Amino acid sequence: MVNILTIKGFDDNYFWLIKEKRSGRCIIVDPGDANPVLEMLKSQNITLDAILLTHHHHDHIGGVNELLETAENIKVFSKNKLFENTNQVKDGDVLTFFDGQYSLTVMETPGHTLDHLVFYNKEVAFCGDLLFSAGCGRIFEGTAEQMFASLLRVAMLDSDINIYCAHEYTQNNLSFAHHLEPKNSDLLVYIEQVSKKRQQGLPTIPTTIGLEKKINPFLRCEKKSLINALEYQLNMLLATPIDCFRELRLYKDRF
Ligand code: ZN
Ligand code: FE
Repeated sequence: MVNILTIKGFDDNYFWLIKEKRSGRCIIVDPGDANPVLEMLKSQNITLDAILLTHHHHDHIGGVNELLETAENIKVFSKNKLFENTNQVKDGDVLTFFDGQYSLTVMETPGHTLDHLVFYNKEVAFCGDLLFSAGCGRIFEGTAEQMFASLLRVAMLDSDINIYCAHEYTQNNLSFAHHLEPKNSDLLVYIEQVSKKRQQGLPTIPTTIGLEKKINPFLRCEKKSLINALEYQLNMLLATPIDCFRELRLYKDRF
């Protein structure tokens, strides 16, 4: 019923476009820049129904005003009132689109920012800057506890749903993951796959929760192998998963 199209923005952003196949209507997630979105709308001959914003950072909202000028009745959804016609949403809200045929549920996921949201259904989750492949967002406004709780909530989604992150940071994240777990065989296989994709200029996103649980250190804070590796690197004892997560995030920040 829908196709999800990849729009590249800036150096490494993805603006995800959800296109209803028959009607040629669409939703855009996190349009940080209007130009590549407008090009896609024109080349595909589709009209914009709604804009979903995972959080307030400029690389996710910078194109909104210009896009709103292209048509009337374009709805904007975010946690806080970022624009005049913002529809403010909260945890558990179900948003419906395309005459009720498509829906996404709102999950509040503070940590990277306090207003951060994930939009998900049984097939997909748009994660913004919460979760990246093999990594996670930096903690700018929330606490490590909030960020970890948000990641754990997303990790509870079905393991095979497609996870659409807002940045292509995978290869960089993988060098950190490999530094920690050089013997993780799933990680070694994934590093090969990613490097082939990047050589061809292909995105490594979407990923899946099932894959991330095997290779993403930030989703492995309960795994003995990861905790031991981090304890060894930092020369400290990490008694609980949240201790592990907090130190892991700090370690990655200076890696
Ligand atoms: Zn951000
Ligand atoms: Fe971002």
